[in-house]
Amino acid sequence: MSQHYAITMPQLSDTMTEGVLVTWEKQAGDKVERGDIVATVETDKAIMDVEVFKAGYLAAPLAELGATIAVGAALGYITDTMGDVAIAVGEVVDALAQTEMIPHHAGTPIVMPQLSDTMTEGVVVTWEKQPGDQIRRGDIVATVETDKAIMDVEVFQEGFLSGPIADVGSVVEVGHPMGFIVDDAAKTNDTGVTLGGDHKIKDVHHVAPHAADKPAHIPTPKSTPAQIAASGNQPPVARVPGRQASPYARKVAAQLGVNLTGLAGTGPAGVIVAADVARARPSMAEVAHSLPQVDVPGQGRAMTSMEKAVSHAMTASLTLPTFTVTMNISTAALTAAAKANKVSVTVAIAKACSVAMEKFPRMNWAYQPVDKLVERANHDFGIAVTSNDGGLVVPILHGIEHKPLAALQGDWAGLVERARVRKLAPAEYANPTFTISNMGMMGVSHFTAIPTPGIAAIMAIAANGPQGTPFTLTCDHRVLNGADVALYLGVLKQTIEAPDAWIAGVSAAASLSASVATHSAPAVSPIPEGNWDIPVVVIGGGPGGEDCARDLVDHGVKAMMVNNEPFPGGECLWRGCIPSKAWRAAADVIRNRTHDAEMGVDGTTASKLNWAQVEKHRRWVQNTRGEMALKADKGMKIDVREGFGEFVDAHTLKITPVEGEPYSVTFGAAVIATGAPAFVPPIPGARENLASGGVATSDTIWNLPAPPKKLGIVGGGVIGVEMAQIFHDFGSEVLMLERHDRILGEIEDEIAKSLIATLEKEITVVTSAAIHEVSGTSGAMKLRYSNKDGVESSFDCDIVLMATGKRPDTSKLNLDRVGVELDGAAIKVNARGQTSQPHIYAVGDVIGGYMLAHTAATQGRVAAENLLGEAAEYNQDLDCGVTFSRPQAGFVGLSVAQAKARGIDATEAKMPMSIDAKAMITGETDGMIKLVADKASGKIIGVHFLADHCDTLIGAGVMMVSGGMSLKQVAHAIFPHPTQTEIFGELARRLLNRLRRTVKK
Ligand SMILES: Cc1cc2nc3c(=O)[nH]c(=O)nc-3n(C[C@H](O)[C@H](O)[C@H](O)COP(=O)(O)OP(=O)(O)OC[C@H]3O[C@@H](n4cnc5c(N)ncnc54)[C@H](O)[C@@H]3O)c2cc1C
Repeated sequence: MSQHYAITMPQLSDTMTEGVLVTWEKQAGDKVERGDIVATVETDKAIMDVEVFKAGYLAAPLAELGATIAVGAALGYITDTMGDVAIAVGEVVDALAQTEMIPHHAGTPIVMPQLSDTMTEGVVVTWEKQPGDQIRRGDIVATVETDKAIMDVEVFQEGFLSGPIADVGSVVEVGHPMGFIVDDAAKTNDTGVTLGGDHKIKDVHHVAPHAADKPAHIPTPKSTPAQIAASGNQPPVARVPGRQASPYARKVAAQLGVNLTGLAGTGPAGVIVAADVARARPSMAEVAHSLPQVDVPGQGRAMTSMEKAVSHAMTASLTLPTFTVTMNISTAALTAAAKANKVSVTVAIAKACSVAMEKFPRMNWAYQPVDKLVERANHDFGIAVTSNDGGLVVPILHGIEHKPLAALQGDWAGLVERARVRKLAPAEYANPTFTISNMGMMGVSHFTAIPTPGIAAIMAIAANGPQGTPFTLTCDHRVLNGADVALYLGVLKQTIEAPDAWIAGVSAAASLSASVATHSAPAVSPIPEGNWDIPVVVIGGGPGGEDCARDLVDHGVKAMMVNNEPFPGGECLWRGCIPSKAWRAAADVIRNRTHDAEMGVDGTTASKLNWAQVEKHRRWVQNTRGEMALKADKGMKIDVREGFGEFVDAHTLKITPVEGEPYSVTFGAAVIATGAPAFVPPIPGARENLASGGVATSDTIWNLPAPPKKLGIVGGGVIGVEMAQIFHDFGSEVLMLERHDRILGEIEDEIAKSLIATLEKEITVVTSAAIHEVSGTSGAMKLRYSNKDGVESSFDCDIVLMATGKRPDTSKLNLDRVGVELDGAAIKVNARGQTSQPHIYAVGDVIGGYMLAHTAATQGRVAAENLLGEAAEYNQDLDCGVTFSRPQAGFVGLSVAQAKARGIDATEAKMPMSIDAKAMITGETDGMIKLVADKASGKIIGVHFLADHCDTLIGAGVMMVSGGMSLKQVAHAIFPHPTQTEIFGELARRLLNRLRRTVKK
C-alpha cells in the first residue's frame, strides 16, 4: 500500500498566513531526498526555498505556479512508491512531509542537516547554546559529527533555543529534530526532557484533504505525468520471467550491472523497485562488513564515526587489484621554486602531479562498477592531513589543473586549518580524483599508501634519501598498467626536477579561467622551418578560417586564406546565422505586436509581410558584410585566394580556382576550416527531390519566391525549431517530424521542456516519428510518416525542409595523403586544435562539437596562438550559445548534469521571468534564468536562459563564467532597476544563502 505525504505551505514568519508558489524545483515523479528543495514560495518578505525532510517521489496534484496558498495547506505530495506520480482524487493523505510534522508547540525544529550525499545520520557532539538562550540569524547552536568531520550547525532563524533537545552523543537521523526555536522567551521548554538518539517523529499532524479543505488552486491531474528520468542511455535489462520489476528499476539495474533474478522486491505486490536494485550494489560499509571477520578477545569500544569511515573505506579497498611502482626523484629544485613562489612544497608537488598528468590523463580516471571507466579532466586531489585529535583527514584541493599556484596556496591554507579541527565542509573532502600522502616530513624512508574505491592511484612520498625522494604509486590495475605508471613517474620526475620549464606559466600572474586557456606546458611555435611559399595556409574562409588568418597576420605571420566562395563569411554569413536572423528580425516585428493591445496600444496588429522587402534587406546585410570582410582581409594583408583546396602532400596544397588552371602552393603549417554542410539522411525521396527544390536544406532554402503556405520540417534540432517559428510568424502552417522522443535534444532539459510547451501551441510536433517517404514536386509535396503508435499519416505541403543536422565532409581534401586522422566524420584534434599531424590544425564545424560561429572563431584564434608559439587551448566548458526561438534559449558553461558528469558537485537556482518587473511590463514573462555554481569553490560555472532578449542578457552570463566569477561577486554587484539583469544578483544571493546553510567557510 503506497504511503503519501502532503507538502504544506510552511510558516516562515509569525506574520505569514499565506504564500505564493513561485517555482517547482522538482517535477511530479522526480526523486526527492531529505533536505531537498522542492519549490520556492514568495512571502510578504522574500522568496524562500521550501525544503522537505521526507524521501520519496514528488506526486501530483501540484499547486499551480502563482497560486496563493494558506500556511499549512498542501502544495503537493510525496509518495514512497516510484512511478506513483499522482495521488488519486479523494484519496486520504494521512501524513505531512515537512517541518509542520513537528508538534506545533515545540516551535520551529532544528533538524539534523544532511551534509553530504552519503550522510544518513549524525552524532550530536556539543550544544553551543542552552535552552532559553537567545538565537540570532547565523548563530552556531551545536556541533555534529558526520562520518567524515565535525561540523557546526548554524541556524537562520531568530528566537530562543527550546527543548526538548537531543542528548549529546545521541545519533539523530538526517531530517529529524535536534531541538527547537521558539519566538518568545516565555515559551521555551527547559524541562530537561531530551530527544533520544532513536527519536522518531510520531506526533504527526495528520491531514486528510477533502473537498472542503483542499486548496483551491490544486488542479486535478489531466493526464499521466512524465516518467521518472533515469540517467544514461543504457537500455533497461530484460524482464525476468515470473518477476515484476518497474521499468526504472530495470534501467537502474542496467546501469549498475545488477541481476534481477533472486532480488527481493519491496514495491507493491513484491514488485522490484529501483531502491531494491540500488541496495543490491553495496556501500563501502556493507562491503567491509561482508568480509569474514577474525574474532579478537577483549572489550572493544565503539569506533567514532570517523574511525568507522576510515575502517570501512580501507576494508572496501580490498576490492581493488593494486600494484605499486616507485621512482626516486630529486625535490631540491622544486623546493627552491616553491619557496621563490611563496607556496608550500605540498602545493607545488600537487601542481607538478597535475602538470605531468596532462600527458597521462588516465592517472586521474576511476573504475566504476560494473565495467566502466570514469574519464575525469578535473584534477581534484585529496592530500592527507593529520587532525589535531590524531585522525586522518583528506581535504581536497580542487581545480589544480587550471588554478595558478597562488590561488592553490590560498585554498590549501584554509583547507589545512579546517582539516586540523575536522571542520571541513562535505564538498571539501568528498570525491577526490587522485590522492597524495606525504610522510616524508615524518622521516619514513619508504611506504605505500592504500587507494580507496573512486580513485585509480595514490601517491606516497617518503623522506629524502641518498638517491632522492621515493615517490611510490599504488594503483588500481583495472584502470592503469605498470608501463603507464612508470611513464607517468618518468614525466613527473622531469617536471619536479626542472620546475623552471613550467612554474612561471602557472605562477600567480597567469589567469587560466578563460575560454582560451594558456597552457602550462612550455610554448613552442610549431610552424616548421623551410623555404615555403607561405608559412601558414588556411583552408576555408568562414568564421573559423577568417579569424585564424586575421590573428596570424595581425602578429606578423604571413597567411594565405583559400576559400571556394567569392566572399569570406562561410555558412554563417551566406547560409546560416546572418540570413536566418534577418528573417527572425522580421518575424519578431510581427510577433512583438501581439503585446501591443495588452499594453494599451491598438491598431498595430494588422501587420502585413512584404516578402520582397524582407529578402532585399537580408541580401543587403549579407552583401554589405561580405564586401566589408573581404576589404578588411585584404587590407590586413591576408593573401586571399578564391578556389577549392586539397592536399597533395604534408606541405603542398592544390588550389582549383573557379576560372583558370589549378596550381599548387607549399606551406609550413595548415589550418583546415572547411565547415560542415547540411546532412540529409537516406529517407526515400529526400535526396532525390533536392534538385527540384521540393526538398530544401539550410544550404538551399534561401531562394524561396514566397513563404510556403504549408511547411513540413524533418528534424527538431535548433535549426528546425528556429525555422518553424519564423515561418509560423510569417503565416505558414508548420508540421515538424522528429524521430527521437523529444525535440531540442541538445538543450538543457528544463529549458527545452518549457520551450517545447510554447512551441506546441504554435505548430504541430510529432515525435518518435518514422518518415516513410518524401514525394511530389515543388509546391505540391507529400510527407508520409507514422507516429509512435505506428499510425500512418501524410502531410501535403509546399516544401519540405530537411533540418536533420550537419556533418563534416572531408572526402575531397585527401587527408589520407597527409595522415590527418578522423573521429567519425569529424577531424580529430586536441584542445589546441592540432590534428594527428602536429603542423596541421583544424577548427570550427569540421571538428564537430558545438557547431557555432563563435566557437569556430574562438578555435581559429586558438590555432593561431599556438602557431604563434603561445600554447593555448579551447575550453568547451566555458562556451555558450543562443537558440533564436521565441523565447530565446541560451546557455553559458555547464548545466548541473554536465557538471556532475565531470565530477563537479554543482547546484542551481532558477527564477521564472514571470516575477521580473521588466518582463511583466513588456509582457515577456515566458521562461526562466538559471544560475549553476560549483559548491566547493562558490564559482558560477553555468547560466541558462529561456527568455526574450537572451541574446543580450547572455553577455553578463558569459562574463561570469569565463571570468570565473564567484557567487559572492555577483551577489554584491549592483544591477540597474528595472532590468532583467536584476535576476542575476537575486539568483546569486539565493544560491549563496543556500550554500551557507551547508558549507561553513
Ligand atoms: C540556418 C543556420 C543558422 C545558424 N545560426 C547560427 C547562429 O545563430 N549562431 C551561431 O553561432 N551559429 C549559427 N549557425 C552555425 C554557423 O553557421 C557555423 O557554425 C559556422 O559558420 C561554422 O564556421 P566554420 O568556419 O567552421 O565553417 P563555415 O562557416 O562553414 O566556413 C567554411 C568555408 O570553407 C569553404 N570551404 C569548404 N571546403 C573548402 C575547400 N576544400 N577549399 C576551400 N574552401 C572550402 C566553404 O565554402 C566555406 O566558405 C547556423 C547555421 C545554420 C545552417
